[in-house]
Amino acid sequence: MAQTKYIFVTGGVTSSLGKGIIAASLAKLLQARGYRTTIQKLDPYINVDPGTLNPYEHGECYVTDDGAETDLDLGHYERFLNVRTSQANNVTTGRIYQSVINKERKGEFLGKTVQVVPHITNEIKERIQILGNSGDYDIVITEIGGTVGDIESLPYIEAVRQLLWELGENNGIVVHLTLVPFLSAAGELKTKPTQHSVKTLMESGIKADILVCRTEHEISDDIKKKLALFCNVKQEAVIQSIDASTIYDVPMLMQQEGLDKVALEKLALPNDTEPQLELWKQFLQKHKNPKHKVTIGLIGKYVELQDSYKSILESFIHAGAANEVKVEVRSIHSEHISGNDVDKKLMGLDGILVAPGFGERGIEGKIMAVRYARENDVPFLGICLGMQMAVIEFARNVLGLNNANSTEMDEQTESPVISLMEEQKQITNMGGTMRLGAWDCELKEGSLVHVVYGKTEIAERHRHRYEFNDDYKSQMEDAGLVATGLNPKTGLVEVIEIPSHPWFIGVQYHPEYRSTVANPHPLFVGFVKAVLAQKQQQTNASLA
Ligand code: GLN
Repeated sequence: MAQTKYIFVTGGVTSSLGKGIIAASLAKLLQARGYRTTIQKLDPYINVDPGTLNPYEHGECYVTDDGAETDLDLGHYERFLNVRTSQANNVTTGRIYQSVINKERKGEFLGKTVQVVPHITNEIKERIQILGNSGDYDIVITEIGGTVGDIESLPYIEAVRQLLWELGENNGIVVHLTLVPFLSAAGELKTKPTQHSVKTLMESGIKADILVCRTEHEISDDIKKKLALFCNVKQEAVIQSIDASTIYDVPMLMQQEGLDKVALEKLALPNDTEPQLELWKQFLQKHKNPKHKVTIGLIGKYVELQDSYKSILESFIHAGAANEVKVEVRSIHSEHISGNDVDKKLMGLDGILVAPGFGERGIEGKIMAVRYARENDVPFLGICLGMQMAVIEFARNVLGLNNANSTEMDEQTESPVISLMEEQKQITNMGGTMRLGAWDCELKEGSLVHVVYGKTEIAERHRHRYEFNDDYKSQMEDAGLVATGLNPKTGLVEVIEIPSHPWFIGVQYHPEYRSTVANPHPLFVGFVKAVLAQKQQQTNASLA
């Protein structure tokens, strides 16, 4: 078997330069040339995974099929590559230390003193090579979170240095992402921060092979020459990464700059064929030239931070392109919706999505949004907590169970229509203990959701503790809210819908985690289609 090649992506100068998008774009180009490529993210924080982090801290927590709670960059990797990721694709300092300490307790270090070098660095090297050693990939891209020079990143940088040496020339390279700021007072792009961050990397014994320079203005050949000279790279290895109107443009921009070509050359891999990006370009073409427009309300409580609902927003981009529709997502804070102004706040929306979430804050606004959608025939999609809110709303306003609630919000509620699963009741540890990852679901023949998916057997990713309470199922079904997706083994309700409504679906799982450019998620595609149809019907009716 040919040797797996490694590309390490580091960041300098500042955070938030978009390392994840650059890594995903490079991976896309390599994949489009026929190389089996995957991406891994190493995060230098001490949380074992981001599952316990508030979305305001770190944006959305992304969930993989195997139930790993991961960094949102893994979402970009899957959306770009259309290849599933797993626990092995995201490792944190917390996980590294946890594993080393567990080994120490088992006595696996033969009486040695356990140290950052070599024990932590060895563990990091092992985690990096797990994907390469699987035999499934020609190229593994490893993105190191944080910025070089950070105290937290040091063991990772040292592990990369050792690994580069062990792998030998042409088997591992370093792509360093930096910022070339524009000083408007001087009217100039400045290279010094990049020079300094490359120097910091060199102090740790690592030489950057390729520089990707984030910039708001074109980088001239002169500046590229200067950067090359002072940073010890070839001029063609200085890659400009100019601000793009959509992240989906970045692969093509990187191709124009020759990032994939230079990387392959440094890895001594053939680079004479062109990447096959026809489908990607078709998607972009549709995304940029929509024929229609719809406005969908995203009702959530973390709306101040775009990253909190990253996968949902991206799923709308995929589904919009599939329908040749521009989906304008209007984020509405559920705490800002009250009984007096719900109509005013939600008027003009062509569709309503009630978002996932945790805890009591903002739920009454979500329940009012569900009611508005149900009573006004507005197409509705409820995801996880959004589905639970739809059940509560129906119980309160249709079944007349005025105090219906989830036991997450009110433990003593008289009508616990959403409640904790038996096996969740004993759990005291919060990290990694929810119902996580892909679970099978069987859809009811002839239901709306069956039509939407075009099949009855599906598997979707979960991340929640509370469930639809079966005790209320027949009462709900008699009144018109039907369970149309069940877990075939446990009978747990995964999908509800209201057949008398034009398009009303709630799902206990997270469809947004599985939507990719190549495979837009059927629920989002179906939702956008229904929203457009409803809008057109209303326009026609008002013209008649
Ligand atoms: N808080 C709810 C639960 O734990 C829903 C979780 C979610 O929306 N991801 O069941």
